[in-house]
Amino acid sequence: MKFISLGSKEERYTLKEVLFKGLAPDGSLFMPEAIPVLSEEFIENLPAYSLPEIAFHVLKPYVEADVSDEVLRQIVEDTFSFEIPLKSIEKGIAALELYHGPTQAFKDVGARFLSRLLAHFNKNESRKLMVLTATSGDTGGAVAHGFHKVKGIEVVVLYPNGKVSPYQEYQITSPGANVHAMAVEGSFDDCQRLVKEAFKDNGLRELVYMTSANSINMGRLLPQMVYYFHAVAQLKRSGISEPPVITVPSGNFGNITAAMLAHRMGLPVKRFVAATNVNDVVPRFLSTGAYDPHETIVTLANAMDVGDPSNFPRMYELYNNQLEKLKGNLSSFAVNDDIIKETIKAVYQEHNYLMDPHTASAYYAVKRELKENETGLFVSTAHPFKFGEIIDVLIPGGLKASGYSIDFPRLDRATIDVMPNDYGALRHRIEKMA
Ligand SMILES: *Cc1c(COP(=O)(O)O)cnc(C)c1O
Repeated sequence: MKFISLGSKEERYTLKEVLFKGLAPDGSLFMPEAIPVLSEEFIENLPAYSLPEIAFHVLKPYVEADVSDEVLRQIVEDTFSFEIPLKSIEKGIAALELYHGPTQAFKDVGARFLSRLLAHFNKNESRKLMVLTATSGDTGGAVAHGFHKVKGIEVVVLYPNGKVSPYQEYQITSPGANVHAMAVEGSFDDCQRLVKEAFKDNGLRELVYMTSANSINMGRLLPQMVYYFHAVAQLKRSGISEPPVITVPSGNFGNITAAMLAHRMGLPVKRFVAATNVNDVVPRFLSTGAYDPHETIVTLANAMDVGDPSNFPRMYELYNNQLEKLKGNLSSFAVNDDIIKETIKAVYQEHNYLMDPHTASAYYAVKRELKENETGLFVSTAHPFKFGEIIDVLIPGGLKASGYSIDFPRLDRATIDVMPNDYGALRHRIEKMA
């Protein structure tokens, strides 16, 4: 398998090039040159496979030109070493809990797979590899944890100062060693802009290899397909063979793009629903046809505070950049903070199920969208205790009653590297690490 850039579609790139570059030389996103379709037999037999076995089969076509079966097997066993259960919440609606990894967010899957693949490819390199990532919250912790002490790799994590939860900030800043956390005085969009500028800086590229661990990196996107297959396997095991409506809480639209890729590989899915918070570029695009990015609005679901979703071009490409085609498969709702709060409370009261704000937006959307006799699956992207401050106010004692506790050391703010929203400041820091 080779990869193309969405900008030119001419040149072919190897997996290693794609992982190391992050973005194509023309500044656009990489895409597989073709999407392989898995055998009907594999899809039929999904319930017979374990999670790592599913991962091996789904990912093999994308990596086999560059990675041996033995190495792939090792990497998927390492990556998918925690459970990803599908829990029935009420009749016809189940939660796919992606938050049982080490930093309690779905981004652990992508970060773990990418770090192991990069380490594999970087084994025989003399130049240092710099992984640059901007985070609105969850990516940072997952990347910091996934890459911590991986040999030959330095990691820079940029996050918007004061705009992530205390626990997220703890996860980003605590690993240390080869993981360099920087609190940018600006928004998540500013952090993303700084990262993009670094990638365009050819002078800097002469000093170090640079790649991104954001959801723009194919190495994160690909493994996210795996759990959608695993979800359908679990549905089938419980006797449901009808294709589900899959609802994903979306910010940069990487997770839902992975689900759509899985569908193109043969996964039975009825249709998709993207829940957003009030950063509603995609819902508005679907209703007006105008793609109109805007400044980020801060919400309770902060990992979805994205004013210009970076995976949008990939998602649209899957539907040949045709609005009507996309609308035939996708609907999208913007869920505001008040509804998120009400939903968290109502679902706890009715079903004794605690959800974080991101997951709550997806529950609300699936509930609204699902028709009689359909099966709805909503994706639970973060553990509720990561957003304990919010939940404690809404449902006093709820976390404790559910058996969750939030214990982590208080940060010494003097140790945090606060950085101006200025590319020169970032460049200076990277040069020092080279
Ligand atoms: C990153 C994140 C999302 C959004 O995922 P995208 O792939 O950016 O659409 C949703 N929920 C949580 C908890 C996240 O960390």
